[in-house]
Amino acid sequence: NVHKNVKQHSASRKKELEELVHNSFATTNNKPHLNMVVIGHVDAGKSTTMGHLLYKLGYVDQRTISKFEREANNIGKGSFHFAWVLDEHQEERERGVTMDVCVRYFETEHRKITLLDAPGHRDFVPNMISGTTQADVAILLINASEFEAGFSSEGQTKEHALLAKSLGIMQLIVAINKMDLVDWSEERYNYITETLKQFLVSAKFNEKNLYFMPISGFKGDNLIEKIADPRCSWYTGNTLVQQIDSFSVGERLINKPFRMGVNDIYKTNSKGSVLVGGKIEAGVLGVGDKLLISPGNELCTVKAIRRAHNDSDWAVGGDNIDLSLAIDVTNILRLGSILSDPEKPIQVSKRFLAQIVTFTLPLPITNGYQAVFHAHSMEEPATITKLLSLLDNSGGVSKKKPRCVSDGMTALVEVQLTRLACLELYSSYRQLGRFTLRESGKTIAAGIITEFLDVDKATL
Ligand code: GDP
Repeated sequence: NVHKNVKQHSASRKKELEELVHNSFATTNNKPHLNMVVIGHVDAGKSTTMGHLLYKLGYVDQRTISKFEREANNIGKGSFHFAWVLDEHQEERERGVTMDVCVRYFETEHRKITLLDAPGHRDFVPNMISGTTQADVAILLINASEFEAGFSSEGQTKEHALLAKSLGIMQLIVAINKMDLVDWSEERYNYITETLKQFLVSAKFNEKNLYFMPISGFKGDNLIEKIADPRCSWYTGNTLVQQIDSFSVGERLINKPFRMGVNDIYKTNSKGSVLVGGKIEAGVLGVGDKLLISPGNELCTVKAIRRAHNDSDWAVGGDNIDLSLAIDVTNILRLGSILSDPEKPIQVSKRFLAQIVTFTLPLPITNGYQAVFHAHSMEEPATITKLLSLLDNSGGVSKKKPRCVSDGMTALVEVQLTRLACLELYSSYRQLGRFTLRESGKTIAAGIITEFLDVDKATL
C-alpha cells in the first residue's frame, strides 16, 4: 500500500500553509480571484471582445495589435485582429510553447481574472465543457444583429447557457454585442434581453444574478468607457469591466482534502517531470507536497507551483495553476486525471446513481441508453442501466420505475461507465460531482452524482 509511506502534510506543515494562506488573504492588495469563461454562438464576437478588452486594459501592446491588423488585412480578414490576441495563444499552446499567461490573465480594480479557454474554440462544445467546469462566472455573448440564428435550436446560445447552468455557473453577464450593427436600437436590445431573460430564468438562473448590457466588442464601446454616442444614451448601466469587477466571489473549499483536475498537460520530460495545468477544487497545496494521481494510483511530488501571474509556494481551492510534478511513471497522467490528498483520496467509480435533467433528446431514454459522459476534463462512454424514478419540480418522486425519460424531465437513474473515473458526490464536492451526457454531438442531459454503487476501496 503506497499510502503507508506517505508522510504528506505533517501537522506543522499543514499549519504553516494555512497561516500563509490566511495572511495572504488578509493583506489589503490581495484581490479575490475568479475564473471566467466566455460562451456564445459562433461569431458572436467572443474572441474579438475579449481581445479588445485585454488591449484596452493594457495587456496587449499597440505594436502587437498593429502587427495583427496588418497580417489580418493581408489575408483578407481585416476585422479579426482583436480576436487573434486570443487565438494566437491557442496556437502557441498547441505547439507546446510555454503559454504567455498575460494574454489570459487580467486584473480589474477589485478582482483577478483568469480567462478560460472557450474563446478560440469555435463551436467545439466538449472543450467548452471542460473550460466551463472550472469557471466561477461567465459572459454570454449575443450577436444583436443575428440573435435569432444563435437562439434557434440549431444555434449554440441556448445549449451553452444550459450547460453553463448545469456545470455550476451562477452569475452570468449577458453582453448584447455588435450593437453598432443595429444602430444601438433600444427596441432591439429590449426585445433580445426580454427573450433571453425568460429563457434563462426558465433554465433556473436567478434573475438577480443576470446582468444584461449592450456593447460593441469590435468598436470597443461599453467595454471600459461608456459609449459617447447619443444613440445609446438610453443605457445607463455598467460597462463590461465594471460588471466583471462586481462579480461576487463564491465559497472556497479550503478546509476539504485536496482535489485538482488535470485540464492540460503541457510538457512531459523523460527524466520524470511533467507540467500540468488545472483548477484546484478544494484544499491547500504547498511545494514539496505529495499527491496521488488517480486513476492509476501513483504518487508524485509538487516541485513548483505557478499561478497565472507568478510563482508561488502555495495555492488554494479556486486557484487556476500550473504544477511542475516529479513522477516515476509519466504516462499515467492524462486529461481528466485527478490529483488528490493521498491520505484522503478521491473516489474512483464506474457505477453510480445520479439525478439527471434532460434537454432535447433524439429518442426518449430507456434502459440501456448509451451516451458520452463528461465530467471535469474526462469523457467516457456510459450506459444508463436503470431508470429508478421521475421527479417533480420539488424533488418528490412522481413516478417509480418509469419505462422511459423524455425531454425536459428530471429523473433518478443508474449510470455505468466503461472504465473507472475519478468522481465525487455532488453533496461533497459540487464541481466534481456534476456531469453532462452527450450524444451525436448534442448535449442531452446534465446530472449530479448522488450515490456510488461500486466504491472499490481495495484499490485505494
Ligand atoms: P467568436 O467566434 O465568437 O469568437 O467571434 P469573433 O470574435 O471571431 O468575431 C466574429 C466576427 O464578428 C469577426 O469578423 C469580428 O470582427 C466581428 N465582430 C465581433 N464583434 C463585433 C462588433 O461588436 N461589431 C461588429 N460590427 N463586428 C463584430
